[in-house]
Amino acid sequence: MASSCTPCRRASRPPPRARSATPTWRCWHRTAAWVGEHGAAFREDPLLERALESSVSRFRHLCHPARHAGDPDGYAQEQALLVAERSLSLTPCEDGGYVLGGKLDAVGGATLRTALEPLARRAGRDDDRAKPRRLADALVELAEHALDTGRIPSTASQRAHLQVTAAFETLLGKSGAPAAELEFSLPISARTVARLACDCNLTRVLLDADSAVIDVGRSKRVVSGSTRRALNVRDRHCAWPGCDRPANWTAAHHLRHWTRGGRTDLSNLVLLCHRHHWMVHEGGWQLLKDDEGRLLTIRPPIPLDRWSYRGRQHLLLDAG
Ligand SMILES: [Zn+2]
Ligand SMILES: [Zn+2]
Repeated sequence: MASSCTPCRRASRPPPRARSATPTWRCWHRTAAWVGEHGAAFREDPLLERALESSVSRFRHLCHPARHAGDPDGYAQEQALLVAERSLSLTPCEDGGYVLGGKLDAVGGATLRTALEPLARRAGRDDDRAKPRRLADALVELAEHALDTGRIPSTASQRAHLQVTAAFETLLGKSGAPAAELEFSLPISARTVARLACDCNLTRVLLDADSAVIDVGRSKRVVSGSTRRALNVRDRHCAWPGCDRPANWTAAHHLRHWTRGGRTDLSNLVLLCHRHHWMVHEGGWQLLKDDEGRLLTIRPPIPLDRWSYRGRQHLLLDAG
């Protein structure tokens, strides 16, 4: 039989069977107190029955409908406050990375999680990334996709996008070339420039000896719209064996880079998702086409988790 009670009276008299489950009791008590504070009657019996058969986390979840039933307006106000308390910090580190911190309300967190979870699934048999790494990759991929598809509001008619400034020598991957400049980032490597240059808009800027701009060429798409459409029809999704990321979530990758004489036509292009494109350019993997047109992947000789500073020192010593 359902009964009503004031939270204060119940707070001093926990239900006997719930005493052994302390976190559950604390949750029950907080819910009773919250409903009481908002001047509503608390129907305890339905919740107590669930307390005996639910895990703590499940019971915590079940308390929220009781709160809402007790005071819908108070519940909405509490959620509105949590939205007002949203925060996100992106703190740059010495090594150029960023540390993320912050807090989201329930709906904001669920929205982000709903968007990230499908992108954070394992991509093929070789994908041995742990869940935190996959979620972080998914967040970057989500941002990159929003920029690529022009979903971010433009500023002064300028579409928001990554803008890289690189010397011609850097683009060609020549030794001794300087690192490239990217807004909000430390200078980036020639390998990253090569990945971004695979499928981008390119603008030639000529500088004089004092670094003053003397000529700016017209912006040119490396992979034309018609070539890209044909590539989408042929590959349909990321071409990496076992990966099914759809075409509109991929970049056109040059098997032989155009800076090294590779042609920008279908025979030299394949679609690659964010992760696999990164693996080919910066992760040390090789992607080759055999005589029958099948793609072969070759692992890096040294796994990425052994690319430590000590590892590099060791390699240098070996080379000497
Ligand atoms: Zn590429
Ligand atoms: Zn892929």
